[in-house]
Amino acid sequence: LYTAKQRRRDVEVYDSTADRASHRVRMTGDLRDAIAAGALTVHYQPKTDPATGRVHGAEALVRWEHPEHGRVSPEEFIPLAEQTGLIRPLTTLVLDTALAACAGWRRQGHHLGVAVNLSTRSLTDTELPAQVGEALRRAGLPPAALTLEITETAVMADLARSVAVLQELRAIGVRLSVDDFGTGQSSLAYLKLLPVHEMKIDKAFVLGLADDQGDAAIVRAALSLGRAMGLWVVAEGVEDGTTLALLAEWGCDSVQGYHVSRPLPPAALEAWLDARHAPEPVGAGRGAPGA
Ligand code: C2E
Ligand code: MG
Ligand code: MG
Ligand code: MG
Repeated sequence: LYTAKQRRRDVEVYDSTADRASHRVRMTGDLRDAIAAGALTVHYQPKTDPATGRVHGAEALVRWEHPEHGRVSPEEFIPLAEQTGLIRPLTTLVLDTALAACAGWRRQGHHLGVAVNLSTRSLTDTELPAQVGEALRRAGLPPAALTLEITETAVMADLARSVAVLQELRAIGVRLSVDDFGTGQSSLAYLKLLPVHEMKIDKAFVLGLADDQGDAAIVRAALSLGRAMGLWVVAEGVEDGTTLALLAEWGCDSVQGYHVSRPLPPAALEAWLDARHAPEPVGAGRGAPGA
C-alpha cells in the first residue's frame, strides 16, 4: 500500500519501501490469525436465469474485515495468501463454509449449487482433488452441487499440471467454470484445452454492454462461442435492467450482478431465496448446475 507521503516525496522512497514491506508482513500475520480464528467470512451472490429469474446457485466470495483497516478486498489479500503459503488453508475454509451453506439451502428446499473460486496456486496443487472430494463428503453433497471457478491466467502458469488437476476434478463429478473469460491471454487456444462446463464472461464487457457496441459485440461473440462448445454461459456484472433484458434476448444461460443481487451474508441470502420462492429443482438442461 502506498502512503500519501510516498506519492509526494520520491526522496523518501527507501523509507516507504520499507514501510510497505513491514505493512505486508503485518497483514500476512493478521491474515494467518484471521484464517486460524475463522474470522474470514463468506458472502454469496446468486446466479439466476435472465429470462425467468430462476436461481441456479450462488458464488461464494470471501470477505475479510480487518480490525484496523476495515474491509480488505480479496483482490488484495488473495495474492498475499498465495505468496505466503496461506492459500491452502484459506481455500479449505471457503470450501467447507460454502459447502455447508449449500447443504443448508438444500435442507430448506432450495435445490441450488454453489461456486467457489480457485486461485492460481491451488490449480497446481495435486492434492486439491482429494481435498475437494473430502470436503464434499464432509458436507454430504453430490459433486455436481459444486462448481469451481478458475481463470485462464491460472491455467497458463503451469498448463500440464493444471489440466491434470482439472481432469481429476472433472472425473470426481465437480463442475468447472472459466471465470473472467475474455480478459486472459490466448483465450481461445486455452479454452479448447480446458475440460470445463461453464464460461463466465468478464464484467469488463458486460458493464458497458447496453451503451457500447464493441462490448455488445464481444459479449455476443463469447455467447455464441460458448454455445458452440456446449458450455453453460454466465454473464457477470449485470448492473441494470437493460443489460439483463439483452442477455435474456441473446440466450445467456445465467447472470450475476448488482441488478439481481449484491453478494450477501448467509442469513440475507437465505431471506432473499425465501422471498423469491425458489424451491423447485433445477432441470437437467445443458450443463445446468445443481444436479
Ligand atoms: P470474481 O470471481 O470474478 O468475482 C466477481 C467480482 O465482481 C466480485 O468481487 C463481486 O463482488 C463483483 N461483482 C458482482 N456483481 C457485480 C456488479 O454488478 N458490478 C460490479 N462492478 N462488480 C460486481 P469481489 O468479491 O471483490 O472478488 C474479487 C475477486 O477476488 C473475485 O473475482 C475472485 O477472483 C477473488 N475471490 C473472491 N473470493 C475468493 C475466494 O474465496 N478464493 C479465491 N481464490 N479468490 C476469491
Ligand atoms: Mg468468480
Ligand atoms: Mg469473474
Ligand atoms: Mg475477477
